[in-house]
This record gives sequence, structure tokens and C-alpha cells, in this order.
Amino acid sequence: MTRQLENFIDGRFVSGDGLEHIDVRNPANNELLARVPLSDQAVVDEALLAAKRAQPSWEALPAIQRAGYLRKIATLIRANAAALADTITREQGKVLGLAQVEVAFTADYIDYMAEWARRIEGEVIPSDRAGESIFLMRRAIGVTAGILPWNFPFFLIARKMAPALITGNTIVIKPSEETPINAYDFARLVAQAELPPGVFNLVGGNGAGAGAHLSESPMVNMISFTGSVATGKRIMAAAAPNLTRLNLELGGKAPAIVTAQADLDMAAKAICDSRVINTGQVCNCAERVYVERAVANAFIEKVTARMAEVRYGDPLADPTVHMGPLVNRQGLDKVAAMVERARGAGAEVILGGSVAPGDQGYHYLPTVMINCRHDMEIMRAEIFGPVLPIQVVDSLDEAIALSNDSEFGLTSSIFTRDLKEAMAACNGLRFGETYVNREHFEAMQGFHAGRRHSGVGGADGKHGLLEYTETQVVYMQHG
Ligand code: NAD
Repeated sequence: MTRQLENFIDGRFVSGDGLEHIDVRNPANNELLARVPLSDQAVVDEALLAAKRAQPSWEALPAIQRAGYLRKIATLIRANAAALADTITREQGKVLGLAQVEVAFTADYIDYMAEWARRIEGEVIPSDRAGESIFLMRRAIGVTAGILPWNFPFFLIARKMAPALITGNTIVIKPSEETPINAYDFARLVAQAELPPGVFNLVGGNGAGAGAHLSESPMVNMISFTGSVATGKRIMAAAAPNLTRLNLELGGKAPAIVTAQADLDMAAKAICDSRVINTGQVCNCAERVYVERAVANAFIEKVTARMAEVRYGDPLADPTVHMGPLVNRQGLDKVAAMVERARGAGAEVILGGSVAPGDQGYHYLPTVMINCRHDMEIMRAEIFGPVLPIQVVDSLDEAIALSNDSEFGLTSSIFTRDLKEAMAACNGLRFGETYVNREHFEAMQGFHAGRRHSGVGGADGKHGLLEYTETQVVYMQHG
């Protein structure tokens, strides 16, 4: 029987009777998996009111007690890891191995944020006055809203809720309408952990409905959004009348630079891995390559050989595939149209270049394109698919300049064995992250933050945690 997903509000699952529902399907075979409610404004308001009511007493708990609840949730995630990974693969399409990593990483991330409980420190600042002390306190912001994309749907719940909750905020999560099932499973674990009602709430819905209501609500004190640049701009506009705090993790167009001094085998492997993980649907993965002319032919040969070995298919039917389908029909059509336009503009496809044969699932062939130029859309816009466009450059300086000439500024990478080149790239690349001689993928203790249109603020580590706090400075005259 098709599962009917029920919102989780004020510690209870509530039936979506009277709400419209939409289908959730497996992108590998179109199987109907569940129906998710399209929450309306009344439902969103109910969740926000619950979060608002719960917040003062949640903040008043010692942080170590809040950490205890987070640890319980992490333990429950580990105990249910196999079923959770299966659900993620079924509704999103990533290979099972990656879904298992996502689940394990999510549990570790929640534990990591719980570890901050005893370290959310304020400051004591010397005063200019005799008999006065100045204290800088870190306070919770209040009610937060987490609006999520579909590409790492389970992990992104934790990336929002764990720093929000450990710092004393409450949260309303809206998962992507493409991949809501795992979020409802997450809510079940929250219920089992007996988190106080209202601290964590989950409402299903689409962008125009629940997403927009959350963005424009005066009850929300901070919106933490991960998704596309276009939606980020809409959310910023909707939040403007209330001056709601924003944390926006948006799209990327990560450059990978391969110099004449690179270990070409390492570069080919890292760039291929980074391009095909999650079928190319990762904000930080290598989306464009600049290779120095002296090694261009050799690198292209190696990276194309690696891409040619990538096998795709339905990840649950064949657990040995490297790549599942794209998330939906629009994603597939978008990738196919971009490749066609690049071809029309003079780029040459040397591997793949089309929708995969057969009618099961939204598969696109692993693709390599050469003779790409900086003015082509394929080098400038986010592809979000397993397509690697390559441009030959004459120097590292040229590669850095082309990399920076982008609307996006999330991640970047350089492959070289020359320390001077590596440092020149780190100093020259204007990106939130730069990877040297390794694939693009961040760590939970780093700081994942995009420049330019890739975002406002960031996530992870100490700096990501502090985004969920605001300061209060106390001037105490006591002498
Ligand atoms: P999307 O912007 O289409 O949707 C994301 C979420 O926003 C969904 O829950 C959707 O319902 C909601 N939404 C849509 N319109 C809205 C509106 N007007 N108001 C409020 N909410 C609205 O993004 P997507 O296609 O789900 O995800 C892919 C994008 O996410 C890519 O661009 C990718 O680069 C980006 N992303 C970024 C990061 C990062 O850390 N920077 C991580 C993962 C994904």
C-alpha cells in the first residue's frame, strides 16, 4: 500500500486530511512510493506556533541536556541505518553505498554538534570604566526554518537541526517534495527520542506553498535554506519585509584546475569521482575543468578512460553500479538540453552525450566534452549531471582568472605537485573552499560557505554553529 506521509507537529504525527497530496516516485523505475501532503498556511502556522511555544524552555535547558537528546537521535539513526539508506536510494536515486555513507555521516554530524554543548562560549571584555565588567553572551535566535533540497536529503536535515537545537533554537523543517520520505522517517526517530514537543517539527509541501509561507512568516527568526540560486533569491525577497536572518547554501560551478605539474592519474581519478558521485548532483563537485595545454591530451585521455568505466543503472536492482538515475524528468531534460546547446556552440562530445538507451529511469550517459570555451553556457551554468566540460588554457593565471569569472563561488580545486603553484591558486581563487590534490568534498569540522551567488553565511564547524546564535553584550557596573 502506498504510504501516506503525516506531518510531525508539536510532538505528534497529524493526518493531512483535507490537504492536497502529491506522489513521490522512485526515479529509477517510476514506482509510486508515497504521497506527501502539500501543507497550507494554516498547517505551517501551527508548526511555527508549536516551535515558538517550545523555544524558551528548550533554550533554558543546560546545553548538555540538549546534547543528550541529539545523541539519542544519532544512536537511533545508527540502529535504523540499513532501512534509512534503502529509503534514500529508493526515492532519490543515489547508489546504496553513498546512501549508507549519508546515513552514517548524518549520525556522526549530530554527535559532532552535540559535542559543542560545553563549548558554546561567550567572552569577557575589558571595560574602560572602573568597577564595570563587559560580558558577550551567545543566545539562541528563536524559531528557525530549514528548507531542504533533494540531493542529500537526510544529511541536510541534520545540517540544519543539529546546530539549531544545540544552541537553543527550535526548528520547522520542510523537505523537498521530491524526497520527503526519509524526513518523515527522521521525524519518527525524533519521536522515539522523546524530544520535547515543538522543538522539531516537519511539514511537507512545495515551494510555492509551505516553502513560501515559511519564508514570509514573521514567526520565523532565521531561515536556513539549501537549494538553487533562483529559489534563494525568492526566499531573500520574501524574508525582506521581516528582515528575517538568512543562511543560504546555494548552487555551484566548481572549477578543477590541472596544471602541467599535476599527477595526471590522481587528477583524472579525483575529478571523475567528484563528477559522478550522486550522478553529478552535488553543489560542490567538479563542474568544469581547466587543463594546461602541455598536458591536455594526456589528461583528457586518462579522464575519459575513467569516465568510460562508470556503470549506471537502477541502484537497488544492481548494487554494483557506480551511478543511479538523475532525480527526475526535468533534471534529465535540463542536462540533455545543455549538452545539445554546447554542441551547437562548438564543443565536441568525446564520450556519452545523450540520454541512456532504454526507457527505465532518468539515466544520462557519463559524458566528456572538449573544445569548451569560457563563453559557453556549459562552462558557466550549473549542469547537475554526469557531464564533464574541459577547456584548455595556457597558464595557471589564465585558469585562475577564468575560474573566478563566475556567478558562483562555492568550491574549487587545483591539481599540481608544485607547492608554489598550489599556494598561488589558494591565494588567487575566490571561492569558499579550495581542494588541493583531492576530490571536492567538505568535512563537518570545516566551514562550507559560498561566495557571490553561491550563498550567504555557511554551515559546519564552529563558524557554522555560531550562525545559529546571536550576541547580547551586558555592561555590568558593579563597583
Ligand atoms: P530548489 O531551489 O528547486 O528547491 C529547494 C527547496 O526549496 C525545496 O524544498 C523547494 O520546495 C523549496 N522552494 C522552492 N521554491 C520556493 C520558494 N519560492 N520559497 C521557499 N521555498 C521554495 O533546489 P533543488 O533542485 O531541490 O536542489 C538543487 C540545488 O541545491 C542545486 O542548485 C544545488 O547546487 C543546491 N545545493 C547547494 C548546497 C550547498 O551546500 N551550497 C547543497 C546541496 C544542494
